[in-house]
Amino acid sequence: MARVKLNKIVKSYGNLEVVHGIDLDIAHNEFVVLVGPSGCGKSTTLRMIAGLEELSSGDIYIGEQRVNDLPPRDRNISMVFQNYALYPHMTVGENLGFSLKIANRSEAEIEKAVAEAAEILSLGELLQRKPAELSGGQRQRVAMGRAIVRHPDVFLFDEPLSNLDAKLRAQMRVEIKKLHRRIQTTIVYVTHDQVEAMTLADRIVIMRDGHIEQQGTPLEVFETPVNTFVATFIGSPP
Ligand code: ADP
Ligand code: MG
Repeated sequence: MARVKLNKIVKSYGNLEVVHGIDLDIAHNEFVVLVGPSGCGKSTTLRMIAGLEELSSGDIYIGEQRVNDLPPRDRNISMVFQNYALYPHMTVGENLGFSLKIANRSEAEIEKAVAEAAEILSLGELLQRKPAELSGGQRQRVAMGRAIVRHPDVFLFDEPLSNLDAKLRAQMRVEIKKLHRRIQTTIVYVTHDQVEAMTLADRIVIMRDGHIEQQGTPLEVFETPVNTFVATFIGSPP
C-alpha cells in the first residue's frame, strides 16, 4: 500500500500552471528524493503534500485517507525547511517538546519523547542550551528532532541542508540516512543537489518544468538516463 499517493496533481498560479499533473506512489518507509533545477516545481509539490498549498486539481492520499481538504496539522506529517526557525528564547529541550506541549500532552509523555529524540540525534548534552549557543549543524539537528518528536507517518524535507557549508552538508547527509534507518519512516526530500539526491534516495524522482522526467533507483537513473537532460543533470555521459 502506498503511504503517500499523488494522483494527477496540478497547481496553477493564476493562468500559469507550474505543476502539470504529477502521479507518484510512495511506499511505506521509502526515502524518495525529488530533484531538479530551481523553479521546476519541487517545493510546490511538497507544499501540496504538506497542505500548505491547495491543489488546482488532482488528489493526494496519505495512507487510505484522501487529504485534499485536511489542514496540515491533521495530516500526520512533519516538515523540515531550509530556514528552520528555532524559538530563540527556549532551550533545546523546550524547542523539542514545544509541539507536544501545545498539543496538551502530559509532562511525562513530553519528557519521554524529548529524551528519545535527543538520543537519536545526539542532542543529550545540549538540552539546556539556547539556539544562539549552537553551531549550524547542531541547530539543524534540533530542527530534525523537533520534527520527529511527534512520530509523524511522513517526513517532508525541503532543501534542509542548503544553508550549511560543504563539510557539514556531507555530515548531515549521513545523519539523515541514519535517522531514516533508525525511525523507519516515509521521507519525501526535496533538493536541487544531485549528489545529495544520489546518496540519500531509495528512489530518485527527477523533475523538469513541473513534470517528472524520470524516476528509479539512483543506480538506474545513473546508468540509464532517459535523455540528455537527465544525463547532464545527473552528470553521467549522454
Ligand atoms: P523549486 O522548488 O523546484 O525551485 P517551486 O515549486 O518553488 O520550484 O516553483 C515552481 C514555479 O512556480 C516557479 O516558476 C515559481 O516561480 C512559481 N511559483 C512558486 N510559488 C509561487 C507563487 N506563490 N506565486 C506565483 N508563482 C509561484
Ligand atoms: Mg524550492
